[in-house]
Amino acid sequence: MNAVVENLAADAIEMPVPLIFTDSAAAKVAAPAAAATKLPQKAVHYQPQPKGKARCDTCLQWQAPKACKLVAGDIAPSGWCSLYAHKA
Ligand code: SF4
Repeated sequence: MNAVVENLAADAIEMPVPLIFTDSAAAKVAAPAAAATKLPQKAVHYQPQPKGKARCDTCLQWQAPKACKLVAGDIAPSGWCSLYAHKA
């Protein structure tokens, strides 16, 4: 192997992984972890009663019949927490 060929071979070994590959690999690893992690009810001051007119079944994060995209556990349609965001 001459010097040019050796340098090319060394360059090929040290080439960084293409960015597009690392990004998609990171997304595949991060997505299930994010989906599995919900906040504890205590951390967001969840209560099973509404706060004024604000209640879970009018919140952007509500998932009928008794769940929330962000908060763990059973969520009452009449509940409320500090992450409340009214559906448009
Ligand atoms: S008020 Fe809180 S617990 Fe209820 S749906 Fe919205 S984010 Fe979830």
